[in-house]
Amino acid sequence: MTFYLPGFRSFPKLWKSTPYFELGPATSPVSLFLAVTGNQHRCFSVKSTSLPNGKAINLLVAKARTLKKGNDSNRQVSPDHYFAAGAAKKRSQVRSNPQHRDHALPRVSALQLPTKPLNSEEWDKLKEDFSGKASFEDWVISQMVHRCSSIDVAKSLLAWVAAKNNGIVGYNLLVKYLSLCVSHKQTSEVIDVYEIMKAKYKCLESGANTLLIRGLIPSDRWREALLLLEDIKKVMVPSKRNYHDCIQGALLHQDVNVAWSLYQELVGHNLIPLLETLKAFFDFGKDINDDHYSNKLLDILLYLRNNQLYPGESFAHSIKAWFESIPGGQWKGQFTTIQKSGQCSSCGRTLESIHLSPEEYEFLKEKIMRDVIDGGDQYKKTTPQELKRFERFVNSCPPFDIVIDGLNVAKMLPKSRESQNLLAVVSQLAQQNLQVLVLGRKHMLTASARWRRDEMEQVQRQAHCFFADNISEDDPFLLYATLNSGSHCKFITKDLMRDHKACLPDARAQHLFFKWQQGHQLAVRKGFRGSHLTLLDPLHYDTVVQTTGDSWHIPYDEDLVQRSSYEVPTKWLCLQGKTQAPGPC
Ligand SMILES: [Zn+2]
Repeated sequence: MTFYLPGFRSFPKLWKSTPYFELGPATSPVSLFLAVTGNQHRCFSVKSTSLPNGKAINLLVAKARTLKKGNDSNRQVSPDHYFAAGAAKKRSQVRSNPQHRDHALPRVSALQLPTKPLNSEEWDKLKEDFSGKASFEDWVISQMVHRCSSIDVAKSLLAWVAAKNNGIVGYNLLVKYLSLCVSHKQTSEVIDVYEIMKAKYKCLESGANTLLIRGLIPSDRWREALLLLEDIKKVMVPSKRNYHDCIQGALLHQDVNVAWSLYQELVGHNLIPLLETLKAFFDFGKDINDDHYSNKLLDILLYLRNNQLYPGESFAHSIKAWFESIPGGQWKGQFTTIQKSGQCSSCGRTLESIHLSPEEYEFLKEKIMRDVIDGGDQYKKTTPQELKRFERFVNSCPPFDIVIDGLNVAKMLPKSRESQNLLAVVSQLAQQNLQVLVLGRKHMLTASARWRRDEMEQVQRQAHCFFADNISEDDPFLLYATLNSGSHCKFITKDLMRDHKACLPDARAQHLFFKWQQGHQLAVRKGFRGSHLTLLDPLHYDTVVQTTGDSWHIPYDEDLVQRSSYEVPTKWLCLQGKTQAPGPC
């Protein structure tokens, strides 16, 4: 697609502020070396419809830095359960070699990106030095977007291109210029480009619309962004980012009704809103004293609960600030942690139990038996004969209290003998009069340096044992034995069983599985000086947004902690509402 500028004469309107043609030869005191990899070429190719987003890349870089910082600050903290936010990251750091991290640095190309506007001769000269395969103009503007170059420099490029092509500037060049204007928040410039595009094209593709929406939002022409959103809707469901921008714009211009109806529409498309969209409603709510609005904010909190979403740190601050801004001053917020027992360290209330209700337990048990253990692909995990043999074995035993993944536990202290590790854990549990099941493989019974016969005999005296074929997968047996024993039964494995969660058909079953796992998986930790194993109790409380009406407890993610999807936050916002003090007699 090509864009015809209405003539060279109109340039002063578009590029009114830059005296680029009067500039002398380019001198760029700051050398910017451009990093070029094959990947980036593809990413910024002229044909690509996905817009290069320098800001997004910068954000990624910033995030990477943050994560690095986060790791450093976390290093001393020992998370007290498997599912503590950041624990997986720590575990993986112990395993991976940090020296291998920076190997992917891109190759450096020598062409320097100008740092100030160039005149025609200078652009001609720069083009002569360019040896890449892509078109020079497209490559330079892409790099400018990537580097967030100043708009004046980009403008001088477009003027040069237009001068060479009788006022014609390619569509891609214009869109990339637009994206620079948007990242620099140059609203008047955005509006100029918007006018040009509107004059030339009846409708734009969604990439340009997305940029225009974001660029128009701060201006008093923000309602036109809603029309662009309508344009996007004609061809596709707008992104949550599109909705975010429009909602942000509506709130910025005090149009609460438009903001809520866009929110309804967003949720109606089954899109999970960006947390910053939800945060925007809370931030705006501080200035509003309106029950209807307040109820909608409480609905957002319940939405977080139902979707197991956790606000980030600054969102948590916004929630706290909103509650505390409610007239009458009934609400007081505290950032806090929860004790192992499930008691809030701030108010002393006990949080919701992690344990499933009997109905939930039956629902989950049936799903796992059907979808994970049988699941039509049982041959992949075990043979039907072995599964039958196992079922008969389980039914001949009393219900178990603890089911142990023997192989997994045996390998937890790599320096000790495997049978010795296993015996240590089994003896510890047997002393508490617990019914223990050890799941193992047949090869563990063959005496070797790692598996001593006398130790394995002691294990068999203190626990029920089932040894599967060496090729079988242990997890289905572990799940079956644990679930079959009842909701009191816990299990020990280092494995987090993510695959099984993925096998489950629906979000409810997955959520219940995660909740059950948090409440039933005992963690084994290396003891002092790594010489023995210590068992850690599972969580007693559910990490989810919760309320009792006059109190709220809201788990949140800290900015500097990277949490895996199967971990839960450890920090909480505790909100207490004082009941209204009785009026003076
Ligand atoms: Zn509390």
